[in-house]
Amino acid sequence: MRLSKVANAAEPSATLSLNALAKQLKAQGENVVSFTVGEPDFDTPDNIKLAAKEAIEAGYTKYSPAVGFPELRELISESFSRLNGLNYPPKNILVSNGAKQALYMLMLCVLDPGDQALLPAPYWPSYADQVKACGAEPVVIDCTSTGFKLTPEALRGAVGPKTKLLILNSPCNPTGMSYSRDELRALAETAAENDLWIFSDEVYERLIYDGLSHVSMASVLDETYGRTVTFNAVSKTYAMTGWRIGYAAGPEEIITAAGRLQSNLTSGPNSIAQRAAMEAIGGSQDAVEKMRKTFRARRDLLIEGLKSIEGLQCATPEGAFYVFPDCKSLLNHKYNGIEVKDSISLSKALLETVRLAVVPGSPFGAEGYMRFSYAAGEETIQEGIKRFKEFLCMRGK
Ligand code: PLP
Repeated sequence: MRLSKVANAAEPSATLSLNALAKQLKAQGENVVSFTVGEPDFDTPDNIKLAAKEAIEAGYTKYSPAVGFPELRELISESFSRLNGLNYPPKNILVSNGAKQALYMLMLCVLDPGDQALLPAPYWPSYADQVKACGAEPVVIDCTSTGFKLTPEALRGAVGPKTKLLILNSPCNPTGMSYSRDELRALAETAAENDLWIFSDEVYERLIYDGLSHVSMASVLDETYGRTVTFNAVSKTYAMTGWRIGYAAGPEEIITAAGRLQSNLTSGPNSIAQRAAMEAIGGSQDAVEKMRKTFRARRDLLIEGLKSIEGLQCATPEGAFYVFPDCKSLLNHKYNGIEVKDSISLSKALLETVRLAVVPGSPFGAEGYMRFSYAAGEETIQEGIKRFKEFLCMRGK
């Protein structure tokens, strides 16, 4: 039997597979310390869980409109106006099964086979796979030497006749860096000059530290609004990754087209989870601030630990819950007889020798780096740093 080119090219999500391997070892009774997790380790707040239980009792067990319940789109619209200074009426909003599905749905509306999409690296790996699943080509722009940020010059240099889309993610997974208003404005001008669509993935917008404020790309220039699609989700903000509710907001024409596609592909997102998302977005926000403060304290602990490790270069992330240190100086050595040549072999050696799980940088388009998630308790962070140091003592042995 022959499979399609898209199916043959599809690779499993790199971050999910390392997490799965760590979980498998744990299930076998191994004492694994894992920094691979891409989701908050907190439980969904009680008021949100209660809303879901009430939704079941109230009979929200049928299909919702394919684009999402109008009440939820209304709440999302209000939240965009309150938090982001963005005017997206409900008809400009599509609710999907997580931001991941919303991203793919909208890529299908922009990319034809043969088109190119620009990915500033390091990037979240699924962007590249989703672009490929549209039959289009991801074009990677290396931003490791510019503070993990895309510059207008680099953007200009990467645009070609087939370029249609720029994908931005601020705060960023895996680096935690976030763009300022001025930086976004300069990129927006360049994107407009080159007639590009911009997808702005803002799923970590509420996890931002050190007094910084999140800026939405669509808000920085009048002309950007019409060429930008903004993505968000309840997943990271409200510890609701398993509920699968995300959304896209943008010009009416593209959102309506995505809604048509979605009606045929999924019939719409889960109705009970949508009711829970209404409580998340419209209800008390106390839990969000509590989680954010906990993440910030963990970030500081992890950064302090990583900075005490000789040879690791580590920028302090401004948002999300990841640290992305440069580990090039650890490569091309043997550890306990295991040859470590690149970030993948380094991750494997860490897991094999000291049962420490981290995600290699290469799937993020940044070889020589590693991603540590601090969606883990303080004891885990301390134990992880201890094991990392033990691993380094194995160098040359
Ligand atoms: N965008 C980024 C940058 C992410 O890191 C993730 C999840 O890891 C997603 C989107 C997907 O979010 P969701 O779980 O809502 O599909």
